[in-house]
Amino acid sequence: MSKKTPKAQSRREFLKKSAAMGTGAAVGVGMSALEGSAGEIRAQDIQWDREVDVVVVGAGAGGMAAAIAARDQGVSVLIVEQNYDIGGRAILSGGACYLGGGTSYQKEYGIDDSPEKVFYDWTLMDQPRNRYNDREIVWKYVENSIATFDFLSENGVKWMPPGRPSRNDSVFRRPAPEQWPIASEVIVPENRGAGLMRPLEKSARAKGVEILLQHRMQTFVREQPTSGRVMGLTAMEVDEWYEPTGQTVNIRANNAVIFATGGHSNNVDFRRIFDPRLTEEYQVHGDGWTPQNADGELAAMAIGASLWGAGLQTNEADAQLSKGRFATRSNYHGLEFVPESSNFFREKATGIRVRDWQNVIMVKENGLRFHDETAGIRDYEYFFSAMQWTGDPEKLNGGGPIWAIFDADGVERESWIVKPPHVDPDGYFYSADTLEELASGIDNKYQWRPMPPNSLRETVERYNSFVDSGAGDVDFNKPRPLYKIQRPPFYAAWATPCVHDTYAGVRINTNAQVVDTTGEVIPGLYAAGESAGGFGQHGLGRSLTFGRIAGIDAARNGRMVDGEE
Ligand SMILES: Cc1cc2nc3c(=O)[nH]c(=O)nc-3n(C[C@H](O)[C@H](O)[C@H](O)COP(=O)(O)OP(=O)(O)OC[C@H]3O[C@@H](n4cnc5c(N)ncnc54)[C@H](O)[C@@H]3O)c2cc1C
Repeated sequence: MSKKTPKAQSRREFLKKSAAMGTGAAVGVGMSALEGSAGEIRAQDIQWDREVDVVVVGAGAGGMAAAIAARDQGVSVLIVEQNYDIGGRAILSGGACYLGGGTSYQKEYGIDDSPEKVFYDWTLMDQPRNRYNDREIVWKYVENSIATFDFLSENGVKWMPPGRPSRNDSVFRRPAPEQWPIASEVIVPENRGAGLMRPLEKSARAKGVEILLQHRMQTFVREQPTSGRVMGLTAMEVDEWYEPTGQTVNIRANNAVIFATGGHSNNVDFRRIFDPRLTEEYQVHGDGWTPQNADGELAAMAIGASLWGAGLQTNEADAQLSKGRFATRSNYHGLEFVPESSNFFREKATGIRVRDWQNVIMVKENGLRFHDETAGIRDYEYFFSAMQWTGDPEKLNGGGPIWAIFDADGVERESWIVKPPHVDPDGYFYSADTLEELASGIDNKYQWRPMPPNSLRETVERYNSFVDSGAGDVDFNKPRPLYKIQRPPFYAAWATPCVHDTYAGVRINTNAQVVDTTGEVIPGLYAAGESAGGFGQHGLGRSLTFGRIAGIDAARNGRMVDGEE
């Protein structure tokens, strides 16, 4: 369950437990074979500290489903999780799971649905996250949606009544869980992800799934660098800041390793494979809880895995970038960490959410406006403008930080409280009595050159003139600007769009087995969740479904699950 004070299971406790359970082969640390890159690891030299049937990496949506499903088949299961608590981004999420096609829930509420309708909706061309989907992966998801819904219910998830169909669905098929009743174990009170992940955690533990927290998987160990079975993995103990403690553990998997490490959004080099403009200033919300470092993808690629569905990782797709919350680094419009959140020591501020875009203007690092501020929270043209060049030959990609500029009247109209813990004055929120002082005071690590004070003053004067003249915003067509920015103090709040989902990952087949660049299965390796490619769905339905499929198949040692669904 949730740990208020982060604390890893110590290596000594872990090995002692392993020996007591009789499942381990705790034969010493013997790390010399593991130093260096994946390619240098020689499988035959490894001394295994633990041995289980199935090792799952990541205790989020895909990983937890995989672990329970494997354990249900009677095998021993260990989850390796880098955070001090389970849940991944799934526990931060709204918890609403795309699972339909005729579930018991849909029948109860009189919703007429079929697998064919789900397949049709997820292969339409009208959204980039649908049109490039791998149809085989989508069909497998469709075939397994009912079973996945039942699996969640059987493992303790309770559901809210239906609302309206979401953007992608012709009928309602996105049930959300009831909130978890223990407040201290809820990380984001406004979201219901804990209502999904805590019941699964409870069930997993009750069934005998072991969870090793604060250990970050580093490499997968394959018999030969790019051939043979995957034999296990190496992991490093990390502290509550994800810094290595220096303790390593080698875990052998008799059946298979399953990874569901949540995608690649935090890995700037990796995400730039798909969009080179997405440079370091674009923050990933929720990464103070669990960063998405592409660890699974990189470890799998190091032993031969292919990427898949790369066309899905476009920032033109819904839910990959968003705007709407200011004054904190992790600024997703739909994610507010509160001081009671166990990870608030990493987050530092709740941020402030804008209700009326008339109360702010948005400027780039150079103090100039760049778009109509009222653009929707997922408006691709807005993001395109944000990423446009601002004239520095040293900074051609990315566009630089975006700042929301407002005044004391704007604060009043929005009822914002502009002090910690609502705002983060450590680089993400500034105030001053003049606009010039405001501009020159901005000191943020991504603001690589000072904002010219005159430029900000002139931008505000010009914007104010639009309000005075009533002629409208002749620069960017903001619907008639209503309020001048004129009463000090003036404010600058971090408002750079943040990165959300990962939609491309490693290639899997319909059993969730990882596939290499020649189309061959990598025996003993499975992937699920955002780290698995081929399906551009925002995120829980596909993660849970392929997690469950991976768990079943891995437990059966790679045998097909024909007839199961
Ligand atoms: C605010 C928010 C709201 C959302 N709302 C919804 C919603 O309502 N509906 C929906 O369908 N989706 C929603 N999503 C998306 C959804 O949460 C994700 O798509 C889903 O959680 C992905 O599952 P996953 O298993 O791939 O990753 P995660 O659930 O993030 O789990 C990955 C886990 O792997 C761990 N990990 C990573 N690397 C390592 C390593 N090297 N070693 C050990 N552990 C590692 C991480 O710490 C993490 O715990 C939302 C996301 C957020 C952040």
